[in-house]
Amino acid sequence: MTTPATDPVPLLQELIRINTTNPPGDEGACVAHIAEILAQCPEVDVQVLGPDNDRTNLVARFPGRGEAAPLLLHGHSDVVPVTGQDWLYPPFEGLLVNGEVWGRGAIDMKGGLAMMLSALMRLRAAGERPAGDVLLAVVADEENGSRVGAGYLVDNHPELFAGVRCAIGEEGGAGVELGGRRFHPVVVAEKRACWLRITLRGPGGHGSRLAPPDTPMAKLGRLLTVLSGVRLPRHQTPAADRMLATLAAALPEPLDEAVRRLRADHVRDGVPASLPLPEALYLDSVLRHTVNPTIVRTTEKINVVPGEISVDLDGRILPGEFSVADFTAELRELIGADVQVDLLLEGSKVDPAKLVEPEFGDFYDCLVEILTKADPDAVPLPMITPASTDARLFAQLGIRCYGWLPMQLPAGSDHRSLLHRANERIPVDALEFGTQCLTELLRTYRYTNC
Ligand SMILES: [Zn+2]
Repeated sequence: MTTPATDPVPLLQELIRINTTNPPGDEGACVAHIAEILAQCPEVDVQVLGPDNDRTNLVARFPGRGEAAPLLLHGHSDVVPVTGQDWLYPPFEGLLVNGEVWGRGAIDMKGGLAMMLSALMRLRAAGERPAGDVLLAVVADEENGSRVGAGYLVDNHPELFAGVRCAIGEEGGAGVELGGRRFHPVVVAEKRACWLRITLRGPGGHGSRLAPPDTPMAKLGRLLTVLSGVRLPRHQTPAADRMLATLAAALPEPLDEAVRRLRADHVRDGVPASLPLPEALYLDSVLRHTVNPTIVRTTEKINVVPGEISVDLDGRILPGEFSVADFTAELRELIGADVQVDLLLEGSKVDPAKLVEPEFGDFYDCLVEILTKADPDAVPLPMITPASTDARLFAQLGIRCYGWLPMQLPAGSDHRSLLHRANERIPVDALEFGTQCLTELLRTYRYTNC
């Protein structure tokens, strides 16, 4: 059974009920569900593509009015695990509780997929067509490297995206509050992952004896001390600069001055104390590469002093011309030149020859206008995100990617902080707000200089 899919709420509930926890992903069932909905639309060309049947991607082409170049909407169908999390309501039932849809992926990003598909179906139900052809790409594997998802499509089927100049994807959008003002972020640039493994070696032995000096465990203690909360050198990218300038202009005292000082780099010793800590840490994170130790592996035996310990690091590199070598050089300043560091994964980097810079032209203006009309009291904010998404991969096709899933969240809401955590949920009103904004975008988008 399929729904008409013009309402994002039941659609999201259905998507949440299809468990696409990655690993292993199993996104095929989710794609099949969306393909079944699209089977009602004879004019829509639907392709299901992927390296195997359990992990497929869907690319649907909705014909437009031919007044603008094709636009890409991309969203990932996989979600992160719920292991070890304490949920108030079951994470894979898509329950509607007090005006909110609960479940893994409610925001990240089955909620976004539901908005995109509903917007397309709504326009269609009204007998309208989008300004240009619109491609909806439902991709696998975003939460685990994108190799069988956006990476697969970009490498194997670039022809599907011919002529696309701009794309809308995740991150951004969700209303952010600061100093009593509401901001609607438009993500114009993002960091990329650089996952590393450090291996510490030294004398091990029997756990019953005094340990010799310089065991891997002792080195681990020193390493974690050095890396906890570390602020690597600052690099102010053009996108971050514009974000700080917009924030400073919109915020009341004394936050405006704090952001101005941050922008002018007058706070070398730490983030301004007058900014709330989560926002301060966020802003500081987009002014530098970051690194966090996340996984430590050692012996399973309590009576063995390990001779080897590995520490995995979640590193994030700023957008622009920064290489893995630039990043590890900064890291080595702290941990020393002799520590073994191996690269586990580098988020795709755009070939410098194809690099598309954040663009504040027509298309960006269009996003801002829609937000201003939908929520006149809020301030649209160009944003650089510390997370990385599939935007990097589609950018390799020369597509300018914007993170834009507008959600008007209730005042004081902590929904943004629930990504990847227990009790992820989205208000029905936020889903509706986003669907209306996306519908308006499809109807009116334009780009002359994008
Ligand atoms: Zn996501």
